[in-house]
Amino acid sequence: MATTADVVVIGGGVIGVSIAYALAGQRQRTFLVEKGQPGQEASAAAAGILAVASGRSKRGPMYQLKRASQELYPAFVRELEERTGIDIEYQTAGVLDLIRTDEDEKKYRKLYELRQEQGHAASWLTAEEVRRLEPSLAPDVRGAVHFPGDHHLHNGKLAEAWARAAVQRGVTVLAGTTVNEARLSHGRVTEVRIGDEWVGVGTVVIAAGAWSRQVGALFGLTIPVEPAKGQMIAVYAPQLRSVISWGEHYLVPRKDGEVIIGSSVEFVGYNKDVTLEMLQAFIHRSTTLVPAISKVPLRRFWAGLRPYSPTRRPILGRAPGVDNLVLATGHHRNGIVLAPITGRLICELITTGHPSLSLEPFGFPREPLPPPGPDESPDEAD
Ligand SMILES: Cc1cc2nc3c(=O)[nH]c(=O)nc-3n(C[C@H](O)[C@H](O)[C@H](O)COP(=O)(O)OP(=O)(O)OC[C@H]3O[C@@H](n4cnc5c(N)ncnc54)[C@H](O)[C@@H]3O)c2cc1C
Repeated sequence: MATTADVVVIGGGVIGVSIAYALAGQRQRTFLVEKGQPGQEASAAAAGILAVASGRSKRGPMYQLKRASQELYPAFVRELEERTGIDIEYQTAGVLDLIRTDEDEKKYRKLYELRQEQGHAASWLTAEEVRRLEPSLAPDVRGAVHFPGDHHLHNGKLAEAWARAAVQRGVTVLAGTTVNEARLSHGRVTEVRIGDEWVGVGTVVIAAGAWSRQVGALFGLTIPVEPAKGQMIAVYAPQLRSVISWGEHYLVPRKDGEVIIGSSVEFVGYNKDVTLEMLQAFIHRSTTLVPAISKVPLRRFWAGLRPYSPTRRPILGRAPGVDNLVLATGHHRNGIVLAPITGRLICELITTGHPSLSLEPFGFPREPLPPPGPDESPDEAD
């Protein structure tokens, strides 16, 4: 192993690999340090929805960031597929937000109008029209808003392809190991110990997802990110094409006929158990939306830990008090959609000092944060 690196990225989920890949494209000698195997934690556990128009943030910096990232996806998927030969299963059927109650109708009418104003593709579908797209929906579905621009993909394959492409571009991936110790001098990191070896560094990036707090402690920093468990099941139901969403519940079809059903948001530490209570809730909610689901085979179940930040936005930028330490964490429910823009902006910050979008709204929280207002999502600031 060489003993100096321009950049050491800690964490090999989609956020870490996106940054490492972008840096290697700018000829930065980059080490990616991953305690397990790249892409096996939250990035593999996700549903893979690139939700912007159907998403929670309305028009603020979080919405702008997601929109900019979503726009990068089609060309970016082509690039990764060409480089690696891996089919990322990018699907363009879009998201159907189902309308079953008066309350849904009111909520989605507002969202539909806002998204039209913002130039997103959006259609208000009658019961008949939505059934033409998805014939197996329950009889009480009165209609839907269709957001055809919110695509979805196979996030596990995305992470695999990204990590492989990063290696092809020259990133040194150090898997099954971690940074154990750091040496700092005059407010800068000078060296990190990876396994048994000390490596001189230009910049260190913390992209360790739900484990970022522990990694921050090596540099004397308390990163206020905590794990938010999400449980999932997969069934075999090849009749569905679109992402179907109702409230917090969604069904996401994969190309091989699997449908991913999720999810929960639970603050229970680093526990990844899948509980019968949650399985029961998923079965109940999905058979309410698609009754025939009760007869299809259950394929798999799992849970992942999202990196939740109390700012309800990712934390992106330089760490307070340590000049050459950069943070890219706290993506919570949006890490897949936000990965391409995160890689680009963090790479620009490191190589030019001038990210092409302001990172100011994504800064490290300096004071206690007010709780979300009644109109705001508990998950996501605008
Ligand atoms: C159930 C569920 C559904 C989701 N659905 C969606 C969705 O539809 N759309 C969307 O945009 N987002 C979704 N997300 C969110 C998305 O998966 C995350 O925001 C994203 O994966 C975070 O990426 P990450 O790289 O920060 O974290 P991770 O993928 O968790 O990667 C962090 C990596 O750091 C490594 N690490 C930890 N500690 C160390 C250490 N000390 N040294 C070295 N490496 C270390 C870990 O092993 C891990 O590989 C979902 C998440 C879940 C759980």
